[in-house]
Amino acid sequence: MTTEKPDWYPMWKELGLDLEKHDQLLAILPDIFKQIYIDTQCNRPEGIGFFDFVVGDIHGIRVSELKKAKEEGKKVIGTFCLYIPDEIIYALDAIGVGLCGGTNFSNYASEELLPTNICALIKSALGFGIGNICPYYAITDILIGETTCDGKKKAWEVISEFKPIYVVETPQCKDRPQAKAHFLEELRGLISKLEEITGNKLTAEKLKISMEKIKEKRNQLRRVYNTRKADPVPISGKDALLVSQIAFYDDPDRQIQMVGKLADELEERIKNHIGIIEKGAKRILISGTPMAIPNWKMHHLVESKGAVIVAEETCTGTRYFDSEYEIKGNTLDELLEFIADRYLGINCACFTPNEGRKEDILKLVNDYNVDGVILYTLNFCQPYDVEAVGLEKELKKEGIPVISISTDYSSEDEGPLTNRIEAFLEILK
Ligand code: SF4
Ligand code: SF4
Repeated sequence: MTTEKPDWYPMWKELGLDLEKHDQLLAILPDIFKQIYIDTQCNRPEGIGFFDFVVGDIHGIRVSELKKAKEEGKKVIGTFCLYIPDEIIYALDAIGVGLCGGTNFSNYASEELLPTNICALIKSALGFGIGNICPYYAITDILIGETTCDGKKKAWEVISEFKPIYVVETPQCKDRPQAKAHFLEELRGLISKLEEITGNKLTAEKLKISMEKIKEKRNQLRRVYNTRKADPVPISGKDALLVSQIAFYDDPDRQIQMVGKLADELEERIKNHIGIIEKGAKRILISGTPMAIPNWKMHHLVESKGAVIVAEETCTGTRYFDSEYEIKGNTLDELLEFIADRYLGINCACFTPNEGRKEDILKLVNDYNVDGVILYTLNFCQPYDVEAVGLEKELKKEGIPVISISTDYSSEDEGPLTNRIEAFLEILK
């Protein structure tokens, strides 16, 4: 990759973007990124340069790769949730792109179609699509939704007026034996739909190869996270978040290579006692709703106060790679069983009961030597908001310092949030 950016305007025009609004968006992002990532951090690992480059050309090179792939006959599939298995998409020779939105810039385009009291992630994602300001959304052939939370379920109805969408019905009570059978049936429905869209047939052989690749991508991300257990920690929370955010839309082979390279460097840093922050800095776990790019707000607020975020129990964190499978079977049915088990092993608040999430948090507190937990919820996200009340009590019972923070993508509450974070950090031993 070169550092000089080509002229992407013809491509954006061809994709039907609202160029005026898109210009406004791209005019803001570099400044935000510079302020949060470049001006306030030093001694970052060299390997993070690749991820800086990807964000610096966020709507350019990757979109051009997708466009080229489409010209060669591939299909691009837009998704909004971890529960839509990339393994299946890639096994059908299609490309998956995560489309969750992490900025309120796009809200103007969705505000007349959605109530005000819906979470920022949904408002943002729909705004990006409907407002024609996201080339990733524009390039997709179909969107795949799921029935995880009520806001999303209803959002799919709104979005279906603008773009083809297929909805996977994810079970709600995943601990019941019939939940797996139901999920498997839904995965088979998804496969049929994607076979129709791509014109390709899923085979056990193709699925196995794809499972190995996606598993390896998760492995490399897990390696980066494992290095965050060290003190001093070799990478900031902000940078680690950026790495996992990019995993949602970059090419999996390149991710394996570049995340792997970063993990090598971080492991080396640990051997040489090189940290991003001094040994003994307060270590924070963030747990809650996903943080889609460019939502770096909480990480920036916490790390600006001298603490470090060492792990995220979120879908843009450990939930992305924690649940894993052994690839043993040889038939499609056997392989799909492993996939279903792996995905049902993710403890999202959309399920009831969801006891596993508490256990996950306690394990992370222990493994990452965490001093305090921030339960982070996007305003109007009922599943995570309700769980935060119970989790806060449970963590306190265990003697773990914890605060609950509900916010959105705006900067309006940054003052009060900073005060609360400062007060929280002060009580940590
Ligand atoms: S939080 Fe739940 S609904 Fe949202 S992406 Fe993660 S698994 Fe999907
Ligand atoms: S953050 Fe909460 S309300 Fe928003 S899409 Fe995710 S689960 Fe649904």
